[in-house]
Amino acid sequence: MRRTLYLETFGCQMNELDSELVLTQLRARGYESTDDRQQADVILYNTCSVREHAEQKVWSRLGEMRNWKQTKPHLVIGVIGCMAERDGTNIFQRFPHVDLLCGPGELDKLAMMIDNLTTVGNQLHSERQVALMGSRSRRSSTLAAAHDNLELLDLSRSFSPTDNAAQAYVRITRGCNKFCTYCVVPYTRGPEVHRPPENIIEEVRRLADAGVLEVTLLGQTINHYRYDHGDGRITTFGQLLYQIHEAASHLPRLRFVTSFPRDFEDEALQAMRDCPRICRYLHVPAQHGSDRILKLMNRGYTAEQYLQFIGRARAYMPDISLASDFIVGFPTETDQEFQTCKEVIRQCRFKNSFIFKYSLRPGTTAITRFEDDVPPEVKKQRNNELLDVQAQVCDQNNREMVGRQVEVMVEGQSKLASRWVAGSGNGNQVELGWEKRQKSQDADQPKFQLSGRTRGDQIVVFDGDPALVGQLVEVDITRSKTLTLFGRLTRDRRPVTAGV
Ligand code: SF4
Repeated sequence: MRRTLYLETFGCQMNELDSELVLTQLRARGYESTDDRQQADVILYNTCSVREHAEQKVWSRLGEMRNWKQTKPHLVIGVIGCMAERDGTNIFQRFPHVDLLCGPGELDKLAMMIDNLTTVGNQLHSERQVALMGSRSRRSSTLAAAHDNLELLDLSRSFSPTDNAAQAYVRITRGCNKFCTYCVVPYTRGPEVHRPPENIIEEVRRLADAGVLEVTLLGQTINHYRYDHGDGRITTFGQLLYQIHEAASHLPRLRFVTSFPRDFEDEALQAMRDCPRICRYLHVPAQHGSDRILKLMNRGYTAEQYLQFIGRARAYMPDISLASDFIVGFPTETDQEFQTCKEVIRQCRFKNSFIFKYSLRPGTTAITRFEDDVPPEVKKQRNNELLDVQAQVCDQNNREMVGRQVEVMVEGQSKLASRWVAGSGNGNQVELGWEKRQKSQDADQPKFQLSGRTRGDQIVVFDGDPALVGQLVEVDITRSKTLTLFGRLTRDRRPVTAGV
């Protein structure tokens, strides 16, 4: 009997990759995925505990399903990922209709756990299924075996061209050793473990063989990658980049996230500079501009050291595109300290910054160590002020792009499609309204507004055929807005080049 699976993913790219691997495993066991959870036999939520908002959505989804089992007794409801690991069996007390909990470090067991729940007639097996790292998470004896199993999960992905879109993620490290005081990841994903380089290289190469055009390497602190082969040989992150670039010479784009500002060796920057198919883009969260707050966050660097790193990256690649994260309203943050964040944004000229208001996160060190003493209205004000500063920087960056020609990975139809189209005349700032467009010469030729990203991760909107989605095209940038570049399609394929 075919069974249907509904899987909803919250949070970061690491969770998206985990979900993809879970889907591959369950499809191999005969499951079909569905977008309609009311039709599903198995409902899984792959959860995130970093942001309160994502967490509230999961609680709300689980609450909605409180009575569903009365009409569908064989239904399996599972919580997987970071919330399962952090909250454990407390979830059963709050939501007795949940059947299964599986942490991110135990996902290799998930298919077996679902099988265990579904093998007794049309009713569920009475025992709930639980797989969590818990206190084992940092014990070396069990860690090695756990990671061998997770390695098999990573290796189980499909390389069929029909299963792969133009973009794919490949994990190179798992877990994190940094213990930033506001973050729960080291507790939910366990210690940092680095995958064997040969497995990573083979995975990227096979994805490129399957037609993938852009691979993003994933790690919580990706530049810390350093694989000890156990025979005296070490593969550093820079060496790994060079090796992937050479082995997957038919892959047009290679990028990586997330970088940690400390311990970023010159060799990796050199690899970015030397290898034309590695995108010159770094997402390297600063989090704050005040040394005192950075210390309370346990980030392990000063603002000056962060700025020095940015200077070093720019010295290697003057055209590099940079993005950052900031937390405003961290406990005890003064207004003067907050102002330092603005200075970091102005000096670093980030392409964009993800700005968050601090909130108490269960399971973190900060929740036990600091009082959340910055009032919500002050957090909101600081958040808006920092967004304004970043918007000014974005606006300036984007204006400088006008007149340039860029390679764009087409990701889909633009959300702006029904409202505005780019002017086709000579003025860079021209906007034609949708109605005007209908009356223009080529109004009878159906056109669509597409959206994609440059090698530097800037969003570009332009008119084109929807068949271009999932392809690399070349676009002339004709005008800019704060968050978006607008352009005109030059041609729908281009040779591989470096730069933005
Ligand atoms: S580096 Fe800090 S913020 Fe990033 S995952 Fe590790 S503990 Fe969390």
